[in-house]
Amino acid sequence: MDADRLAAVDAVVVGGGPNGLAAAIEVARAGRSVVLFEAASTVGGGSRSAELTLPGFVHDVCSSIHTFGRTAPFFAGIDLEARGLRWVDAPAALGHPLDDGTAVMVRGGVERTAASLGDSADTDAYRRLFGPLVDDWETLLPDLLAPFHVPLAPLRALRLARFGLVGIRSATSVARRFRGDRARALVAGVMAHSILGLTEPISAAAGIVLLAGAHADGWPFPEGGAGRVPDLLSAELRSLGGRIVVERRIHTYADLPPHRVAIFDVVPRRLAAIAGERLPAGYRRALERYRHGAGIFKLDLAIYGAIPWTAAELAGAGTVHLGGTLEEIARSERLVATGREPERPFVLLTQTSLFVRTRAP
Ligand SMILES: Cc1cc2nc3c(=O)[nH]c(=O)nc-3n(C[C@H](O)[C@H](O)[C@H](O)COP(=O)(O)OP(=O)(O)OC[C@H]3O[C@@H](n4cnc5c(N)ncnc54)[C@H](O)[C@@H]3O)c2cc1C
Repeated sequence: MDADRLAAVDAVVVGGGPNGLAAAIEVARAGRSVVLFEAASTVGGGSRSAELTLPGFVHDVCSSIHTFGRTAPFFAGIDLEARGLRWVDAPAALGHPLDDGTAVMVRGGVERTAASLGDSADTDAYRRLFGPLVDDWETLLPDLLAPFHVPLAPLRALRLARFGLVGIRSATSVARRFRGDRARALVAGVMAHSILGLTEPISAAAGIVLLAGAHADGWPFPEGGAGRVPDLLSAELRSLGGRIVVERRIHTYADLPPHRVAIFDVVPRRLAAIAGERLPAGYRRALERYRHGAGIFKLDLAIYGAIPWTAAELAGAGTVHLGGTLEEIARSERLVATGREPERPFVLLTQTSLFVRTRAP
């Protein structure tokens, strides 16, 4: 379909991943006309599922575990479950094996994990760090996910500040608040989800949110695979009158129909190429100078049965962090950050097919 054959709209959205779809839905909800352009043959971006190995094995192409799928205000507002999505919870959100054959497990509330850390000082420190966050989770999470300028009531501002005092620190400095390998490894593994190096400021923030979220609401995943989420978001967008054009990569502004607002979910250099003339020179230069961080390697496996973990309880974990101790994870991440390949890379492993019969034969 040619853009010039599309009528003028209030807004165009470029990029049909979960964020582009969410943006288009927000526009359509406000009663404005919107058309979304996606380069691939289906929407979904990093949230898609496919038989990537053998027939009958439904793998997630990128994202698999949707930590805030149930609780983020946007998703809660859509009520995906009422539209047929079933969130699945493994018995444990997370397991982290160690070389002594044991594993640290995140299963349910803070107390259970705190008590399993094997060091009374670490048990107390873990309670102190995560207890208040989890207690306030319902009110804290929307503020953590909201733009910073939202005016906050004093109590909410205080809670956010309490989080900020820890979140602003580096992952390694927060992990070193603990004495034992078990607590340190658990915290380091969750913080290594961040795209920042573990010694950089603010690298603690993402991990603290993820771990508090695991205690507050688990780490759920969609029963039929991550692709179910964009399927339902597209249906919602269409029901609100929004339009979706797939197989249409936007190269220049001329590819877009007349519009009042353009929303881009593309990489920085692509935005500079499409909209450069219309952007302030300094911003355009910053986009052109943008350097991507380390890449990511993903391996999909079709296997005959469950993984025979040495620590048997790992069979109940949706996600397993393979990386060993804090020091080992930090070393592996440091090598990646400097462009080298670690021999023992930090690995995020998900084993969703253990908990959903339809994901593997
Ligand atoms: C291997 C891997 C595993 C991951 N696991 C998880 C996980 O378990 N949990 C989690 O929460 N997150 C995970 N993520 C991150 C998650 O996938 C991303 O955060 C998410 O997909 C970002 O959504 P988005 O809509 O911003 O962008 P994307 O999902 O990247 O979508 C962008 C879309 O824009 C389209 N596009 C780009 N340029 C143009 C253009 N010029 N014209 C038209 N269309 C264009 C692309 O084709 C794409 O469909 C993972 C990522 C990877 C790579």
